[in-house]
Amino acid sequence: MSERPLSILISGAGVAGTSLALMLARQPGFKMQPIITLIERSPVPRTTGQSIDIRGPAVDVIRKLGWEQDIKARHTTETGLAFLNGKGQTVAYLPATGDVKAQSATSEYEILRGELTGLLLDGVEKSKKEGAQIQVVYDETIQSMEDRADGTGVDVQFARGKLQDQRYDVVVGADGIGSPTRSFIFGKDDKREHVRPSGMYISFFSVQRISEDDQLWHWATFPPGLSIHLRPHRNNKTMGVYLTITNAKKERNTELEDIVRADVATQKKYFRQRFQKSGCTWQMERFLDGLDASEDFYMTHWCQVRTPKWTKGHCVTLGDAAFATMGVGTSLAMTGAYCIAGELSKITSPEEVPQALQTYEDLYKPFVAKHNMDFALFPQLANPQTAWGNWIFHSIVWLLALLRVQKLAVWLGGGDDSQGWKLPEYGW
Ligand SMILES: Cc1cc2nc3c(=O)[nH]c(=O)nc-3n(C[C@H](O)[C@H](O)[C@H](O)COP(=O)(O)OP(=O)(O)OC[C@H]3O[C@@H](n4cnc5c(N)ncnc54)[C@H](O)[C@@H]3O)c2cc1C
Repeated sequence: MSERPLSILISGAGVAGTSLALMLARQPGFKMQPIITLIERSPVPRTTGQSIDIRGPAVDVIRKLGWEQDIKARHTTETGLAFLNGKGQTVAYLPATGDVKAQSATSEYEILRGELTGLLLDGVEKSKKEGAQIQVVYDETIQSMEDRADGTGVDVQFARGKLQDQRYDVVVGADGIGSPTRSFIFGKDDKREHVRPSGMYISFFSVQRISEDDQLWHWATFPPGLSIHLRPHRNNKTMGVYLTITNAKKERNTELEDIVRADVATQKKYFRQRFQKSGCTWQMERFLDGLDASEDFYMTHWCQVRTPKWTKGHCVTLGDAAFATMGVGTSLAMTGAYCIAGELSKITSPEEVPQALQTYEDLYKPFVAKHNMDFALFPQLANPQTAWGNWIFHSIVWLLALLRVQKLAVWLGGGDDSQGWKLPEYGW
């Protein structure tokens, strides 16, 4: 191992940032000693969130890293997806496939986001105890940064005084769709059009489980573009609820953009008003009471991020900051983290950082690009604006479920096929 360590700053302790920190700490055969600093804007770990899943090459990643059983042990216990109308009547049903190579909407690795983040943070703590040089700092953000023109690293100034300003060999922006780090790296080239709106605004929260609840994901759609999702939790005490509002077009909705930026009380009030008068009769009172009482409420506009570049000099973006993709964001983030850790493990001096990061971008971008098409159809097709559109959507899923068209199940799950892309080997 080289005497000179490699200092790495990661901004954002979500799935992307925490996965990367952990993979850097455990990557076998690292030629330089990585010194990892993971910063998070929130003052406490953000270990909330509903179901997310692991698909495609990310399944191989968790296997190589030895996490498969840990993740499986936390499976939400969901067994399939039932489509409902606004009265709560089932119109179609798609079971989990049991096939990790062709997972349906219900994954074989369905896990709560909070549990996955918690698992990764526990792994980081364990690695630290085993001697990895890694620190996690909450309530800290980058105030400004500059990649030195002479290629000797990135000078970073911090905003909240938890860390001293210093120079890093690598800076990673893993701070989500609106990534401030991405803007620091690419400046005026970080354009609004790279964050493509889906037109779907979604709120997540938990409600108490009741005796009628089962292990299915129940998804009710009703006009105009509204959906309620109810999904089981492993604890058998609570259930996850998502309320979604979808525009007729993939564009930003001025009213809802204001709500995304508002406080949680205003967001909850808005969702209550929209759903209360919707005409849907399926357990509405329960969901709205649960919405008011929830302590883990989270709201977002689901966007796709497609930036022309992920890398510049000693800086790089990862996860939603670089390539947010509906349905597979977590899997893409974990696979990207695996590639960055692997490429950095090969270098013997900091001068090689830009090339290593560029190699990550070159090898991983073609795979991420394969997911652009799914976004073109979703979510407008699955969240119709009219009763007639809803009838057509339900008729299609009813027919495809009846004919057991596997592709529908896999597509709804975000797609599984690696389409010839091969996960690189890094000695795990
Ligand atoms: C609280 C929360 C709940 C979620 N719940 C769901 C869910 O139920 N279902 C689902 O499909 N997806 C959910 N997501 C999104 C999902 O986790 C991501 O799409 C996916 O896992 C990729 O993760 P990421 O780490 O790239 O981005 P994110 O999960 O968005 O993580 C980014 C992290 O960066 C932090 N951050 C932001 N700005 C800064 C800054 N300036 N400095 C330092 N840190 C910063 C954020 O606080 C966050 O912890 C949730 C995200 C969050 C943050």
